[in-house]
Amino acid sequence: MSDKPRILISNDDGILAKGLRVLQEAATPLGEIYVCAPDREQSATSHSLTLHHPLRPVQLDARRWQVDGTPTDCVMLACAALMPERPHFVFSGVNHGPNMGEDVLYSGTVAAAMEGLVLGIPSVALSFAGNQLRADAVLETQVEAITDLLRHLITLKFPAETLLNVNIPAVPSSEIKGIRLTRLGRRTFSESVTRMKDPWGREILWVGGGSVHWTGSDDSDFRAVADGYISVTPLHLDLTHRDVLASAEAWWRTP
Ligand code: MN
Repeated sequence: MSDKPRILISNDDGILAKGLRVLQEAATPLGEIYVCAPDREQSATSHSLTLHHPLRPVQLDARRWQVDGTPTDCVMLACAALMPERPHFVFSGVNHGPNMGEDVLYSGTVAAAMEGLVLGIPSVALSFAGNQLRADAVLETQVEAITDLLRHLITLKFPAETLLNVNIPAVPSSEIKGIRLTRLGRRTFSESVTRMKDPWGREILWVGGGSVHWTGSDDSDFRAVADGYISVTPLHLDLTHRDVLASAEAWWRTP
């Protein structure tokens, strides 16, 4: 058995996604790579689990599987049933498109890393903040930058119950200015539900278009990416709002 760390890679864009191959290539110098990814697009499936039908993993080679399930299913199956031993790290991505602000609540990419974290494994989610139509060529220039980033991240002592959510700006590797530790910004959608007609003239509603407006402090994820920096946001598993908890006494006494 190799003494290199075992690294599990998953994503939400599916086993054929370019970003998954980029992450696999970037992580290869860092350890023994295992891949377990959905057999199809699973973006915006968040942390959903498949409970009501069985899953049929297909083994593609010694360390690669595709699963007819969600990103969370993939990480759970890989860790509990498919890999010979648990991984030391879970990397998820590289997602085609950013996962900043409220995105993290919908993201299957972040959820796969979150599942790693739930299982007690240090986990990193990576997303490429690029326009899907012309992103692939730029993403391919970033393999070395991602290797360098991950090499650094895996040497860190990960804080408890914390995953690292990475967003990479959509600029060629040579133009990335550095790394910023950030907090989540706020994204406001407008007109994200579009009223349309199907080919038979019946009304349908399509979620996901519209325009996006970002707000947030200077240390927000979207500002770092807009300025050409890689954004690293520590995300905590515990969503408890501690300030409210601290004022609970006053809360209940207020009529
Ligand atoms: Mn995706």
